[in-house]
Amino acid sequence: MENKFIMQMEPWFGEEEKQAMSQYMDEGGWLTEFKKTQEFEEQICKYTGAKYCVAVNNGTISLTLAALACGIEAGDEVIVPNYTMIATPNSIKMFGAQPVFVDVEAETLCLNIDLVRAAITEKTKAIMLVTANGRYPKAGIDAFVKLAEDNNLMLIEDSAQSLGSFYPDGRHIGTVGNVGSFSFSAPKVISTGQGGVIITNDDQIADKLRRLKDFGRSGGGNDIHDSIGYNFKFTELQAVIGVEQMKKLQWRVERKKEILTLYKKQLAGVKEVQFFDQDLDCTTPWFIDIFAEDRENLQIFLKEKQIGARIMYPPINKQMAYQIPGEHPVSELVGQKGLWLPSASQLTDEQISFICLNIKNFYEKSY
Ligand SMILES: *Cc1c(COP(=O)(O)O)cnc(C)c1O
Repeated sequence: MENKFIMQMEPWFGEEEKQAMSQYMDEGGWLTEFKKTQEFEEQICKYTGAKYCVAVNNGTISLTLAALACGIEAGDEVIVPNYTMIATPNSIKMFGAQPVFVDVEAETLCLNIDLVRAAITEKTKAIMLVTANGRYPKAGIDAFVKLAEDNNLMLIEDSAQSLGSFYPDGRHIGTVGNVGSFSFSAPKVISTGQGGVIITNDDQIADKLRRLKDFGRSGGGNDIHDSIGYNFKFTELQAVIGVEQMKKLQWRVERKKEILTLYKKQLAGVKEVQFFDQDLDCTTPWFIDIFAEDRENLQIFLKEKQIGARIMYPPINKQMAYQIPGEHPVSELVGQKGLWLPSASQLTDEQISFICLNIKNFYEKSY
């Protein structure tokens, strides 16, 4: 075991995906999205409780389409956390809307509602709430819904890291705002290689999304266009994999919770490592995220022991792509101390013990 490199994250496909793919190919489908994609969308509706689900290429374009379907236009301001994957702001930058960066809470790394309130201007049209690592903000989702309603804003949930995570009242994350977006890129809880979906309970938004992803067609396969649309369709090959991955989701959800519990237990006495507030009754930790003292040296040390760890997202306003002045102490702290430990669902208990032992050795300098 010590010889095999433990990756920070890797997707997990098995015999089930292989057989399903082979069976699909034997049946001679057209590969482009059709019945398998519908089946995948229905699975997600069923799992999340959403009325509609629309599959698209990835979890970035899903945010772009979500924003467009919500009526966001070039020049509009959208509030985005300063700690998130770069896809969140870039998704709206793509059509000329302006991300406005707001700091996150130290306990959850989700948007700080007081700072959101203070950042609202006449130009603000939406809030993109990223439920970081499956967590929800301390203020609660209803406070965000109210803030959005009071200010006539759309609420877009970037739930890319939150499949398998629910709010305490039992609603799945992504189903409470006007739209929710998910990603199935390689590192996510389940993967289709690339892929994303948008969920909504709103009939009009769902209709707009279907048109936007398929040339503005009024119906499947025809050439009648009464609105502008593009081509962001899914493929049956991805759906075949997605349907099999969805069958494995519940097991992974439970395993991810166990993995965090094991890490927390074994690192409990290590004062240099700090965990965030993860409500394991209803949310699923996608990655094991921590604040680690002397992060860079820990990462190097772990790598020598064949253990992968990954630096968490730097503060977005300081990325070369943005360079927007502003003080955002929590996201800056993530930029200094945030580290992801190995987090794949396939990690064994022995591997977790091995990782924790090495972290302890590093801080005790007993190596
Ligand atoms: C993964 C991720 C995305 C982007 O999804 P892709 O499918 O890689 O385009 C967007 N937002 C967040 C919060 C993510 O974690």
